Order: sequence, then C-alpha cells, then structure tokens
Amino acid sequence: ADYLMQDLELRVPEILRYAGRRHGDLSLFSLDEDGIARSQTYAETQARVEKLTGALEAMKLPAQSRIASLALNTRRHLELYYGVTSAGHILHTINPRFTTEQILFSVSQAETDLLFFDPAFSAQAEAIIASRPQVRDCIVLAESGHLPAQSSPALTDYESFISDAPPSDGPTGLSERDGAFLCYTSGTTGDPKGVLYSHRSCLIHALAASAPGNFNIAPTDVILPCASMYHATAWALPMTAPMNGARLVLPGARLDGASLLDLCEAEGVTLAWGVPTVWKSVLDAAIAQGRNLPKLERVFMGGSAVPPDLKRAFADKLDVEVVQVWGMTETSPMGVISTLSSRAAALPDDDRATLLSQKQGRIPFGVDLKLLDEADNELPQDGQTSGRLMIRGPWVVNQYFGHEKPVTTEDGWFDTGDVATIDPLGYMQITDRTKDIIKSGGEWISSITLENTAIEHPLVDMAAAISLAHPKWDERPLLVYTTRPGTDVSEVEVLEFLKSQLPRWWVPEAAVVVDGLPLTATGKVDKKTLRTAYAKFYQN
Ligand code: ADP
Repeated sequence: ADYLMQDLELRVPEILRYAGRRHGDLSLFSLDEDGIARSQTYAETQARVEKLTGALEAMKLPAQSRIASLALNTRRHLELYYGVTSAGHILHTINPRFTTEQILFSVSQAETDLLFFDPAFSAQAEAIIASRPQVRDCIVLAESGHLPAQSSPALTDYESFISDAPPSDGPTGLSERDGAFLCYTSGTTGDPKGVLYSHRSCLIHALAASAPGNFNIAPTDVILPCASMYHATAWALPMTAPMNGARLVLPGARLDGASLLDLCEAEGVTLAWGVPTVWKSVLDAAIAQGRNLPKLERVFMGGSAVPPDLKRAFADKLDVEVVQVWGMTETSPMGVISTLSSRAAALPDDDRATLLSQKQGRIPFGVDLKLLDEADNELPQDGQTSGRLMIRGPWVVNQYFGHEKPVTTEDGWFDTGDVATIDPLGYMQITDRTKDIIKSGGEWISSITLENTAIEHPLVDMAAAISLAHPKWDERPLLVYTTRPGTDVSEVEVLEFLKSQLPRWWVPEAAVVVDGLPLTATGKVDKKTLRTAYAKFYQN
C-alpha cells in the first residue's frame, strides 16, 4: 500500500482496553441498583467486559444488532458500553423518561430484541416485552438472584449471564465506521429520532472533548457525570474518563442535591457535568448546610442555558468555576464550550465575565458553525445578527437512523433548530430554539434573556418565558416562575424588575407564579406543556 502509517481502526473498545492495562488499579465508584456503593478497578471492569463480550458472542446475533439498555449511571451500564460495542453490536441507550409510546417507537424502529435493564425500570421493560414478541431475552442489571417478580420471558441476572462466559475481545473485523451507540432524541413534536454514533465519530469526539481548551481532563481528575448515560452518552464521559486514565464516579439513582453534595465530598470529585437544574439543587444544598467543596474545580453545565446568576453563585459561594457547554444528541454532543481564547482572555475584566456568562461558548476544532436566514442566505458573524444555527463536523449527524434521506443540506450542514449569534471572536450565543421563539410585532424577543433576567431577582427561583398568541402583536411572552422556598414575590414586582433591566417591549404583559415547572425527559423546562396550559391567556 502507498499509505505508510499504521492503519489502525478507531474503535470504542480500545479505550477501556487502554485504561485496563495502563490505569488498571484505578477504581471507579458506582452506586448500584441495590443502593450499595461498590468500587471496581479499570482492570476488573475490562475483565468483566471481556466476559460480557463472550456471553454476547455465544448468542450468535447478526453483526450490528441493536441491544438496549434501560439503565442509570452505574458500572454495569459502563460495561454495556464496552461489551456490546466490542461484540460488534450497537448499544441502544433507551431514555426511561420517554413516554411509553416513544420507547416503543424506538425499539420497533431499531428492531431491538435484546434488553438489559435496571430493576427500577421494570415497568418500561414490561411494556417493551408486551409489545414486542421478538424480545426473547431480558437481562436484569442486578446481583445474582436479584430478579424482579416477572416471569415471561425468563429473566436472567447480569452476574449469572456473564459468570461462566469465556472472555473474548470480540470479532476482529470491526470497522471504525460501524455503529456503536444509538441515541434517540425526543424532540417536542413528532416521533423520536435516532442518531447512530460510529466508533470513529465517538473516538474523534472523545479525543477532541478531552483537550485542554475543552473539558481539559487530566489523569488525576475525578469525574462525576450527572448527565445520564442514556442521554447522548453523558457528554461522552464514559469514554473520555478511561481514555485519559481519570477516575469515574457513577451516582446511580441518587441525583438529589444533598446526595450529590455528599458524593462530591466523599469521592473528591474534581470535574462534574449536568443540566443547570441538577447543579442548582447541589448549590442550594451546599448553602443550606453551610458546606463547600474544596476539591471541585469545574462544573460543566449544558442541555439548557446556564443562568448567569447560577454561574456567579457557584463562583462566589463555592469557589467553583461553571463552564457552559452547548450541544445536542445530534452532535455527540459537544458543540461549543465557554473557555477562553487568547483574544477573549485579553478583554477587560467585565467584558470577559459577560462573555463567559452570557454566551454558550467558543467553537472548538472539529465543529464548524454558520448562520442562515429564513431564505437560506448566510448571515454575518458579527455577534448581533441572529439566525438559524447550522453545524458541520465529523461527530455531527448526517442521517437519522431508519430514515431514507440525509437530514443535512446538500453541502453537508445540519440545522440545529436553535437560533443564535456568532461573534467575531468565535463565540456562539443561543437566543432561542426555533420552536420556542417569541415573535412579537415582527420582532424577536429572546426567551433565554427574559428567563435569565427574571432569575436575577433575588427571590425568583426558576423562570420560563413562553410565546402565546396575542390579538394585537401576533405573539407576546408570558413569564411563568417559581419563588425561592418559603418566599413570596408578586407578579407585579417581577414585571417591574424586568422593566428595570430590559427594553420595555420585551417585558411580558403578565407573569404567573407556580409551585413547580414541568420538566421534559431530559430535565429541561417543558415549554410545550406550558404553552398548551396557557394557550388562551392573552385572548380573553
Ligand atoms: P432534547 O431536545 O430531547 O432535549 P437534546 O438534549 O439533544 O435533546 O437537546 C439539544 C438542545 O438543547 C439544543 O438544540 C439546545 O436548544 C438546547 N441546549 C443544549 N445546551 C444548551 C445551552 N448551553 N444553552 C442553551 N440551550 C442549550
């Protein structure tokens, strides 16, 4: 061959093989399904993965079969990440918070016939079994003999499944372009859409995400993914942590603020990830208990906009840096990240702080972004003009699973469904999702800015700005908010506060205080439900 470099395929299972050999005695923490915390070294994990691979090979499934997990962040879910891909199959990580219809749609489209599930998700597993006779084998992610009461089909526990299997490295012919993970995104309308990550896209993404300008993961780090392993591979941390020889802390079912606070302290977590709502509850618990987290250096928050107020509170009260990340299932998920470029670092203090707290982040290598108007004309990247955010790169979706045609434009760009600006320094700021946009009298109002401003009021806890039909202005915003526990703040006061901060015409005519905001399967405020609930608000 003319090619003179070693032509090795980029494959997911190599990551854990590396960690098992070179960081073999490093032990991960896992809060298991029985509520017991266990530790297990990378060498032990790799040995168990080899048995799992052997057990899967013995089933003689066709190559690239879809095998489902219905599981939290635990060591056995991590083993599935590596065992299933090592056996040449695709791990379909089902989001248990999807509706039954969404789950059944995905298993039917993916033709998923083998299921591994946490006992906590027996109900979802039963629904799948009931609707899909092809599912013959179900393996419960539990200690041997710990099976839920359910008889058909016969259940096996994971430990028995792997215990007698011959260790195997899986088939040798695996191509880097084969599928590794199948992740469905809920969307708020229509059927869920499956994004099939390849071995190659996962490896390139994990290498890029680890870089110092991005997640900056060192072998000495202790990594806590609070994003779910069933949602876009939990920011790829099950890959970046072992790839960098860093310790993983898998929190299982205990995701409330107080438990996470204890876990961070007990395990000496240095880097953590998750949606802003989860980390807000950790902050609240820390403040209530008068504690801090000296080991914790950075919390990467994404999935929805990070309120500047939350970032400031982490810095002031806990001395922890919040790094905003933007991404989506379709982008593996890393898109942009709010770290400093050298030009941004040279900005005056206030400008730099504003940039880091208000923008979603800097464009890293491997991601290309541009803005289009409604007629597909490219818009300037001047930090002012907002448009439809388009993305391109080696870890971005080209075609949804089971669809006939690419979802990208002819020249290869994917429309994110977000509306954003990009500034001359290369920082992107989301103003809205296309479907959440508020267009009042022909002009856009940013729902994210309304929400972030409302949260600046000391007594407002959470806020959602939604767009409602309005007889005069087509659409007007409505602010729905909750107050800090045990406090009270009137709608009038909140609106006055907004008036003091924002252009007059942005301020909603009304605000509504509620006890709690509805959340989606991925932990974001469910604006669709809110829009339906208040649909007629301005029409009476
Ligand atoms: P789902 O739509 O099922 O929640 P995703 O998790 O893929 O699926 O959602 C991706 C979307 O989440 C993005 O298109 C964007 O609208 C939103 N998002 C993610 N991160 C951020 C962020 N840092 N700021 C604002 N919006 C974000």
